[in-house]
Amino acid sequence: MTPNIKPLVAGNWKMNGFRNSLSELGAMTAGYDIAMRNRIDMLLCVPATLIFAAAQEALGTRVHVGGQDCHFNQVGAHTGDISAEMIADSGGTAVIVGHSERRTDHGETNAIVKSKAEAGLRGDLLTIVCIGETEAQRKAGETLDVLKDQLDGSMPDDSTAAKVVVAYEPVWAIGTGLVPSAADVEEAHGFMRNNLTDRFGDKGAKMRLLYGGSVKPGNAEELMGIANVDGALVGGASLKAEDFLGICAAYEKLC
Ligand code: PEP
Repeated sequence: MTPNIKPLVAGNWKMNGFRNSLSELGAMTAGYDIAMRNRIDMLLCVPATLIFAAAQEALGTRVHVGGQDCHFNQVGAHTGDISAEMIADSGGTAVIVGHSERRTDHGETNAIVKSKAEAGLRGDLLTIVCIGETEAQRKAGETLDVLKDQLDGSMPDDSTAAKVVVAYEPVWAIGTGLVPSAADVEEAHGFMRNNLTDRFGDKGAKMRLLYGGSVKPGNAEELMGIANVDGALVGGASLKAEDFLGICAAYEKLC
């Protein structure tokens, strides 16, 4: 945790969820009581097909709904893509960019991720920029070099603490049940904090740094207790309200 920074717990449903899955969002909003709202921000990033319906479901609850990617243009001939403005138009208030699955499956470079993050800001969305090393890069001792390269290349120059969040997600920890040691998470997050503060000053010092990769109710408290970990980006465990709220409850204890 970082003193005076309100943690964010963000869920990423990836390519999961149909309209009837929104009952889980209903249960999440029901469990997001006043005590939790005061301590933790909650966001659920759903497939594009569900943004509008999810935003309607969450209306008036202070649970935020977001998208998982956006094109860098506002409109145009980009079949299958959606823009930041379209997410906002559907009621979304946030977007994830640069998730490792996008970087790998769609060949997204740092330059592309940066332009998407700029689009997120242009659309007035809370923009979560994901970075993280592969298993091979970690084994080769390149983790901090990779994080520096991705931060330097992917972060918009006009990043602010209010509108930009960074998620550190070791690729090898996503969906595998593997989690880095607390010392490794602390090193990565400390490195990110220094990099962002050097570049953005006070804005970097106050920016939320999420950890992502196999976060579950059982390990959330330990992860959240690490310096400069200001919340979580949660994949699998965000699909069920019980698990997602369990993670939030673990964080709430520390706030
Ligand atoms: C993710 O996809 O961002 C993620 C962290 O997934 P999981 O929690 O399932 O590891």
